Amino acid sequence: MSLYRKYRPQRFKDLVNQEHIKTTLLNSLKRNHLSQAYLFAGPRGTGKTTTARILAKAFNCSKRNPEPCNHCLSCQEHTKLKSLDLIEIDAASNRGIDEIRELRERIKLAPSSSPYKIFIIDEVHMLTPEAFNALLKTLEEPPSHAIFILATTEPHKIPATVLSRCQRFDFLPLTILEMVIRLKKIAKAERIRFDEDGLRMIAAAASGGMRDAISILDQLSSSGKKISINLIQETLGVVPERATLKIFEALVKKDLNSGFMALSKIKKKGYNLIHFRRTLLDFLAVVLVYKMSGEEKELKDNLSYEICQKVISLSADVEIKELIKIIKTLARDSLIEKDALPSLGLEIALVELAQVECHSVLDTESINKIGDFEALWHGFLKEIKPYNHSLAGIMRSARVLGKKDDQIMIEVDYDFHRQKIEDKINLQKIEEMIEKIFAKKYKLVCQVGKAKEKSKSLKDIALEVFE
Ligand SMILES: [Zn+2]
Repeated sequence: MSLYRKYRPQRFKDLVNQEHIKTTLLNSLKRNHLSQAYLFAGPRGTGKTTTARILAKAFNCSKRNPEPCNHCLSCQEHTKLKSLDLIEIDAASNRGIDEIRELRERIKLAPSSSPYKIFIIDEVHMLTPEAFNALLKTLEEPPSHAIFILATTEPHKIPATVLSRCQRFDFLPLTILEMVIRLKKIAKAERIRFDEDGLRMIAAAASGGMRDAISILDQLSSSGKKISINLIQETLGVVPERATLKIFEALVKKDLNSGFMALSKIKKKGYNLIHFRRTLLDFLAVVLVYKMSGEEKELKDNLSYEICQKVISLSADVEIKELIKIIKTLARDSLIEKDALPSLGLEIALVELAQVECHSVLDTESINKIGDFEALWHGFLKEIKPYNHSLAGIMRSARVLGKKDDQIMIEVDYDFHRQKIEDKINLQKIEEMIEKIFAKKYKLVCQVGKAKEKSKSLKDIALEVFE
């Protein structure tokens, strides 16, 4: 038997989270305030079906207290899923037309040995419109012995007419801490050796779904080895938290060199960059919530202790606005123009690399070249800063249009930026520094972006002057 089935909670008390749902259901059982239709909505692995089965068992338990006793005949049959009064329909498997038709026949029959006949319909949003209509007719006038528990990952796909007949409960994704508590219980009961960070990593890989987390634990424990970060990385190909932190650090410090180095390490180890992008987004989202709420709990619930401390000190230097920008960039899907890449930030490069993995637009070598150019350009921007801050600022805001033979073409927003760059002494200094960093002589060609220049208002000019 799988660990997941073996340790499936059999009482409300055993459910790890969803406190709001447990309390409401237990209270209504206590007072005998039952609904005839419930809707359980939420992401996969958050306990919807498990809760539905516990609720069904509690309704039919001969000693309802209000938890199911788990000993009476009805409870035993429910636990084994052998009760004739518990009917489970999986709408995802065949979209339910026949099942719902059959349901309408069966529902008329009184329960065989329990107070209620309970219908659990999983992934109810998958029903065809015909099946929904049939279901609605049943929900409009259900016999008093019938109870429906509908479960779905996509409540927005359920017709309003059906929704309005149900008492709705929203299941939240589990936090890493909640999952670790549950995993630890199972590991101890099964005498599986583990270290705490290993369990945290399993929880992180399962992104909020308990079922996946337990399946991973199951899979890993069969190796007989201790559950550790190393074992998980070997088995699952999860990018280590530390590598994610490195990328985060590079984003915060705008340090392209170390960002690209960390990224290329991740790639070399054979990790899937599309998955990594997801991991990084989750990580950044945790930091964003922490920045906005100021509560360290958010970090502690989701990251290991060592990483938490570093994130706290690093994120002091990053503004919420900036973080949102990075997340937005990383989350976008469109393929940006390859030529524009050198002038863009590390975030975009990450997006690009993840998409390269997906579409094979660029081969590894050209990615490395782009990476090199970007890294070198960044090195040049650093080099010029001590020479002249305002010139460095202008160069930083310039877009690199391309590189051809012995020329680097850039574009700036304003003509007085161009003038400053093309000032004889400045230009000489710039080209010297480019030569030093790129180990090659280049001429800098500067043009003014036309659209921007035209739209420049007096206010813009005034602001620039006072800057
Ligand atoms: Zn019982």
